Amino acid sequence: MGFLEAPLLIDSHAHLDSERYAEDREAMLRRAWEAGVGTVLAIGIGEQAGGMDGALAICREFNGRAGIPKLYASAGVYPHNTTEIDDAVLAKLDGLLAEPEVIGCGEIGLDYYHEGAPHPVQREGLIRQLEIAAARRRPILIHCRPKDGQTDAWDDLFEILETHWRATGLGGVMHCFGGGWEQARRSLDLGFLISFAGNLTYPKAQPMRDVAARLPLDGLLVETDAPWLAPMPNRGKRNEPAWVAQTAKVLAEVLQVEDQEIASATTKNFQRLFRLGSGVGNC
Ligand SMILES: [Zn+2]
Repeated sequence: MGFLEAPLLIDSHAHLDSERYAEDREAMLRRAWEAGVGTVLAIGIGEQAGGMDGALAICREFNGRAGIPKLYASAGVYPHNTTEIDDAVLAKLDGLLAEPEVIGCGEIGLDYYHEGAPHPVQREGLIRQLEIAAARRRPILIHCRPKDGQTDAWDDLFEILETHWRATGLGGVMHCFGGGWEQARRSLDLGFLISFAGNLTYPKAQPMRDVAARLPLDGLLVETDAPWLAPMPNRGKRNEPAWVAQTAKVLAEVLQVEDQEIASATTKNFQRLFRLGSGVGNC
């Protein structure tokens, strides 16, 4: 394969189990490989907690086929689905995190932006999942969204992570990062990587790009959050992992480095966090 000369990109966050890929999932994965994406982390949250095994099923269906990226999976209960948490859901999560392909727990966290699960229920659900992820030695993938113009969710998140996560030393990913410099600094201090999604490329995202410009190369990841948040120039369309290259390109401009440096740094960061070998791709 001609791509092996250049470092491959990793899409650290894509909802490959989305119904929106029902018609063309394999072709979509082929386009990713052709665009230089060597690995995709498929996020297992489903539409509801009961569907958190969907990402693992996609991994098992497609891994081993030539011409598509290597797939890994996560599993977790999304903040607004924490009202569904019971013993059976937690047992299912524990079983999934024991599987070798399921390398992280998420996306979990706190979402105070949208109406949904009451905040105390979100916090309790997050803590229960941190306990399971710690026991299974899996890094976590955090979704954190405060109310507009506030840091309420971040403040609660950091309090929980300091108490229930820092001591594990496992770290994690701040997915689709939208915080300010203070939140970025605290995330790095907790051993987290900061993952930027397609919204980094939007015209109004200059404050986000200003934060990114101050971050070290060894603290970064790129992601699509597909099927949402398609980067420019495809904003508004169904997103897909091939387009993580657009976000990586903007990140390279912001940090004033070559595109290839972003690819190699984010790939190394992903492999270090999840303690993976350097092999990528299914070829
Ligand atoms: Zn997501």
